[in-house]
Amino acid sequence: MLQQTRVETVIPYYERFLERFPDVHALATADEQDVLHAWAGLGYYARARNLKRAAAQVVRDHDGKLPSDAAALEALPGVGRYTVGAIRSIAFGEPAPIVDGNVKRVLSRLCAEPALADADFWELAEALVPRAHPDQFNQSLMELGATVCTPRSPACEACPVSKHCGAFAVGEPERFPQPKPRKAPREVVALGGVLVHRKRVLVLRRPSKGLLGGLWEIPTVESDDASELTESVAKRTGLATRVGRELEAVRHLFTHRSLTLRLVELERTAGKHSPDGEVESRLCSEADLQALPLSKLMRKALARAGLEPT
Ligand code: SF4
Repeated sequence: MLQQTRVETVIPYYERFLERFPDVHALATADEQDVLHAWAGLGYYARARNLKRAAAQVVRDHDGKLPSDAAALEALPGVGRYTVGAIRSIAFGEPAPIVDGNVKRVLSRLCAEPALADADFWELAEALVPRAHPDQFNQSLMELGATVCTPRSPACEACPVSKHCGAFAVGEPERFPQPKPRKAPREVVALGGVLVHRKRVLVLRRPSKGLLGGLWEIPTVESDDASELTESVAKRTGLATRVGRELEAVRHLFTHRSLTLRLVELERTAGKHSPDGEVESRLCSEADLQALPLSKLMRKALARAGLEPT
C-alpha cells in the first residue's frame, strides 16, 4: 500500500484491510471485487489485484507460508526487487539490499556522486547491508532519507552519518543527486455518460486488466466524440442512447496523465443492439454504489452528476 502513497493516507486503509482479510488464506479465497472495494480510493489498483493473486499463489505453492528465497518471491505477482529486499531483510533477517527514492538520495550524497545509475545504487546497497540486523539497517537508511536527508534543506547537523558524507564535506548536499528532467503529464480528454433511470445510474465493470481494472464506472470513452460514447454503450450493454445535456467536467491527475472527463447525460432511445462479449453492467441506486469498488475519479464524477454513493 505504501508504494507511491503516503503513510498517513495508508494507515486507515491498512487497518480496515487487515480486519477484512486477516491472513493469507482469507485474502487468497476472497472475491477480487471485495479486495478492490477495500482498496477503493488508494489508487494503483494493480497492487490490489496482484496482492490477491500473490496470496493465492502462496497458499497453492507454498502451503500458505511466504517463501524467503529471492527467486520464489520474485515469482509472485507484483513482487519486484524492492519488495524482495524488504521481505527478505525485514521479515527473514537476511542481508538483502533495498533501494527506493530515499535510499538513492542518501547514497548519492554519501558518495557525492550526482548521477549514479540504478545498477550502481543496487550494487552499493548490496555492499553496505550488514549480516547483523539488515532489517534495522535498511529501515534506518530509508528513514534517514525520509526524515533527515530530505530533498531540500537536509538536517546535516543532526545527521548520524555526516562524518562519512561526501556531499556534506563538499558543502552543497542539495546538489546531489542531479534532478532528472520530468515529463509533463499527457493531457487526455474522455467522455463519461450519465444514464439515470428511476433514480438508478448505469455502471459497468472495467476489464480486469489495465488502468483501474475490475473497478466500476459510468460508461466512459477516451475520446471527445459523442458518437463514440453511444457506440461504446451499445456495444457494452446493447442499449440505444443519445447524448443530452453536458454537465460540469471532472479533472483528475494520474501519474503520467492529466485527465479531463467531460460528463454528459445519456438518454435512452428506441431500439436495441446486440452487445459484444460479456460486460457486467448494473443500474445502481446510491446505496448500491456504496457496495461497488469505485475509483476516486468515479466518485468525483458521480458527485458532479448529483449521485453520492451513500
Ligand atoms: Fe544527508 Fe547531510 Fe546526512 Fe549527508 S550529512 S547523509 S547530506 S543529511
